[in-house]
Amino acid sequence: MKNICILGGGTAGWMTACLMAKHWNNRQPDSQTEKVQITLIESDKVPSIGVGEGSTPQLKKLFDTLDISEQEWMPACHATYKNGIRFVDWSTRAGFKQYFHPFPAQVDDHTVPGFFHNSFLIRKGIDLDAHPDHFFLTTHLANQNKAPISAENFPFEVNYGYHFDAAKVARILKTKAQQLGVSVAVATIEHVEQDIAGNIKLLIGQDGQTFSADYFVDCSGFQSLLLQQSLAVPFQSFSDNLFNDKAVVLSVPRKSQQPLMSQTISTALKHGWMWQIPLQHRTGFGYVYSSQYTNAEQAEQELRNRLVAQSADISARHINMRVGQVTKHWHKNCVAIGLSQGFIEPLEATALHIVQEGIEGFIDALHKGGFSNQLQADYNQQMTARFNAIRDYIVAHYKLNTRKDTLYWRNNAANQNLSDSLQHIIKTWFSGQNLSDELARQKIDEYYPSVSWHCLLAGYGHFPDKQQLIEGNDFAKQYSIEQINKFIHACCLNYPSQVDCLGC
Ligand SMILES: Cc1cc2nc3c(=O)[nH]c(=O)nc-3n(C[C@H](O)[C@H](O)[C@H](O)COP(=O)(O)OP(=O)(O)OC[C@H]3O[C@@H](n4cnc5c(N)ncnc54)[C@H](O)[C@@H]3O)c2cc1C
Repeated sequence: MKNICILGGGTAGWMTACLMAKHWNNRQPDSQTEKVQITLIESDKVPSIGVGEGSTPQLKKLFDTLDISEQEWMPACHATYKNGIRFVDWSTRAGFKQYFHPFPAQVDDHTVPGFFHNSFLIRKGIDLDAHPDHFFLTTHLANQNKAPISAENFPFEVNYGYHFDAAKVARILKTKAQQLGVSVAVATIEHVEQDIAGNIKLLIGQDGQTFSADYFVDCSGFQSLLLQQSLAVPFQSFSDNLFNDKAVVLSVPRKSQQPLMSQTISTALKHGWMWQIPLQHRTGFGYVYSSQYTNAEQAEQELRNRLVAQSADISARHINMRVGQVTKHWHKNCVAIGLSQGFIEPLEATALHIVQEGIEGFIDALHKGGFSNQLQADYNQQMTARFNAIRDYIVAHYKLNTRKDTLYWRNNAANQNLSDSLQHIIKTWFSGQNLSDELARQKIDEYYPSVSWHCLLAGYGHFPDKQQLIEGNDFAKQYSIEQINKFIHACCLNYPSQVDCLGC
């Protein structure tokens, strides 16, 4: 019998518990895999972070894997559907005040070629429409507050995400983990004992309870009690190119009869950006900012000014963020999952996606390695590559901004601390070369696909100035925006409003 001990009952801890229990409980013991007992330690004294309410489409895979239906979890977590993210005020270029980063849909296969074609040729100086908002189904669904759940007679897939109450999702996952045989212990860990080889041997709680295991999963949040504090694995900060280190958050109740958005809105403010996340019963707002450029009081005021009277009586919460990643995600007999392993700030809502990939990769590595550290180096290399690739996509949002209103934005645009990979991507775009080829060459399109990079660069309007463009020939003008619009409009007729779909 093998033992795994998970420290921390936040979202990362419960996701880990569920996925591990699902994997090992469903498997017959064989020569390579022994029976695995999983214990999760949760504290009744240390709170979870309590934010993280937007997802990528990956979260659907989690619920599907755990056989938890949308009918079961979505009402319980006040969840809504998310078609993607709208970026407002990140660019000052005419016609590009905002753009939508869509989640992919099967019918996009008909329209993406036009988007790639136009955004390639406009960079060669041909006058074409390459605004991403004109090419994607989920963009239109979001514009119409529609849910990405099609009528039965329109069987084309949409990859969608969710907005949800994070604390309630953690509760659902806890119940599931217990059903899957995870033991839950309530303790606040105070001491960690290591053996002579440096492996973790024992966790000791404030009341003297002890926990031993073959492997420990550090899900203790930003403080990273096991991997960083006990095993002294260094943390690599991303502050050189991601300036934000604080957030102030509050939520406003939703009035009945109010339309229910099916998108996250991310609006650039003076020293960072503000999210707007719609749940069934409330809208969450958060201002993510850099403390080098503004302070907590000013940031809260700037956020409240945006919400006018809506937030007058509502208290705000201030959160510190530690942006970066550990230099090794798995060291000795301990792997860190969640905020304990790192965080790339909330833009694009990637944290839970990384959590899921991290757990699945670790389960796979333990399984294939016969419950040993054999595949540890590979795992660490993969996790580091994932963090770096996602970081670069996020950094590009800041680097490519064209705002001039504050030092914060000017310094972001002037930032030269870019990875080689990102420098090549930017150079490829501005020199009019094929971006999809460059992403494939770098083998990073599995993290963010070419469409996402195109949406970002085209969505900011990084094209030659209008007066420099010349009219194209028939080949250049082969994709009619009018026809694409008609096509997407017709597809949208097969989708209900978010309110009707959720019945709220
Ligand atoms: C401002 C902000 C916005 C975010 N927005 C998003 C988003 O939109 N989408 C997204 O995917 N992610 C988002 N995230 C990230 C997301 O919140 C986290 O990835 C997710 O909540 C997982 O957190 P966690 O479980 O690692 O840490 P936590 O929630 O902090 O949980 C840590 C757990 O460890 C326990 N613990 C700590 N010390 C001890 C101890 N000594 N003994 C016992 N237990 C202990 C605590 O009790 C707690 O339960 C956001 C994060 C921030 C900061």
